[in-house]
Amino acid sequence: MIYLDAAATTPVRREAVEAMWPFLTSEFGNPSSVHAVGESAAGALAAARRTVARVFEVRATGVVFTSGGTEADNLAVKGLSLANPRGRHLVVSAVEHEAVLRSTEYLERFHGFEVSVVPVDDHGVVSAAAVGAVLREDTTLVSVMHANNEVGTVQPIAGIARAAHAVGALMHTDAVQSVGQLDTRLGELGVDALSFSGHKLGAPKGTGALVLRGRLDLEPLVHGGGQENGRRSGTESVAGAVALATAVNLADGERLTMGDRRAIRDDFIAAVRAVSPGARLTGHPSERLPGNASFVFDGLGGETILLELESRGVVSSSGSACAAGRTEPSHVLLAMGLEADADSAVRFTWGPTTTRDELLAVARTVGDATTALRTLAR
Ligand code: PLP
Repeated sequence: MIYLDAAATTPVRREAVEAMWPFLTSEFGNPSSVHAVGESAAGALAAARRTVARVFEVRATGVVFTSGGTEADNLAVKGLSLANPRGRHLVVSAVEHEAVLRSTEYLERFHGFEVSVVPVDDHGVVSAAAVGAVLREDTTLVSVMHANNEVGTVQPIAGIARAAHAVGALMHTDAVQSVGQLDTRLGELGVDALSFSGHKLGAPKGTGALVLRGRLDLEPLVHGGGQENGRRSGTESVAGAVALATAVNLADGERLTMGDRRAIRDDFIAAVRAVSPGARLTGHPSERLPGNASFVFDGLGGETILLELESRGVVSSSGSACAAGRTEPSHVLLAMGLEADADSAVRFTWGPTTTRDELLAVARTVGDATTALRTLAR
C-alpha cells in the first residue's frame, strides 16, 4: 500500500515515541508539582519549549502547547482578538481551515466583531493587494494560512503581513500544512503568531502549539490553574510536548537537508496528466507545497476514483480530512471557482520519505484507474 494522505495525518516517528516514553512511565510527574518528580517533568517541558522556540526563532515564552492545530487556531484568532480590542474588525481568506473560519464566526456572533472574507484567485492565491483592499484602521487581526490543506497553494504571507502591520493589525498564519516543508520561522514570514499541529509531521495526534513573536496579549480560552504562563490552563501533556518538539525539530532538519523536492512533485504532476488526459491540476502550478498534487478529473467522481485507487493499493483523499464524514462540496474549491468540478477532486500528499519512483508508480495506477472508470462509464 502506498499512503499519499500525509496532509490528513502521518505515523508517529520512532524518535518521537522513544523521546516521549520516559514521560509516560518512569518520569511521570506533573510539571506543576514542586517535588523532584514534578521538577523532572517540568525540566522536560521546558526543554521541549526551547526546542520549538529554536525551530521558529522565537523566545521560549512565545510557545503555548495546545491539543493540536485546531486549538492553536482557536487560541490565536479568539485569544489575540479578544485581548487586543483596538477595533472589532477581522480579516480572513475564503480558503482558511474551518478552525479559523468558525472561530471568526464565533467572534462575530458573540463579541460584535465584523469579519471580512478575502476572495482568492482561481489558483487559490490570496493576494496582499486583496487583503489591503479590506484593511481598516480598526482591523485587529489578519489570519491567512501559509499553505492550503486541500490544494497546496502557498500564500504570499510576508506581503500580507506587511499590509496588516501597516494599519497596526496583528498577523496570524495557520502553518499546519507547511511546517517541515517550507521555511516557517516567524521572522521570515513576518507574522506575529503561527499555529502548527504535531500529527502532520510525525508526532502523536492531540499535540500542537501556538507560537508567538514578542510580547503579545492573549486572552486564554481555557481557564484554570494558569499553566502555560496563564495562556492555556490544564496539566500539560509532557510526553506530547516532548514528542512534538522531537518531531518538529527532525522535520525542520529534513527540510534543510533533503534538497529541493519540488522537482519530484512536478514530475508526478506531469506523469498524472500524461496518463489521465482528463486530469486538471488544482491550486497554483509552482507556488504550492512540495508534497501536494491535487487534481480534478473531468467527468469522474472523486470518491469513485479514491475507491478504485484504494483497491489498487494507493490511499489518498478527496480533500480535507478534518471535517469527518462531510458530504458538501469543499469551500476551498468553490472559492476558486471550481463549482462544476468540486466533486471530482483527488488530493495526493506525501512526506519526505516518499520517493520519486513511488510517485511515478502511483501516476501509472492513476492512469489505469481512471481509464478503467472511463471505460465503465461509456
Ligand atoms: N489547519 C489546517 C490547515 C489543517 O490542515 C488542519 C488539519 O488537517 C488543521 C488546521 C487542524 O489541525 P488538527 O488536526 O491538529 O486539529
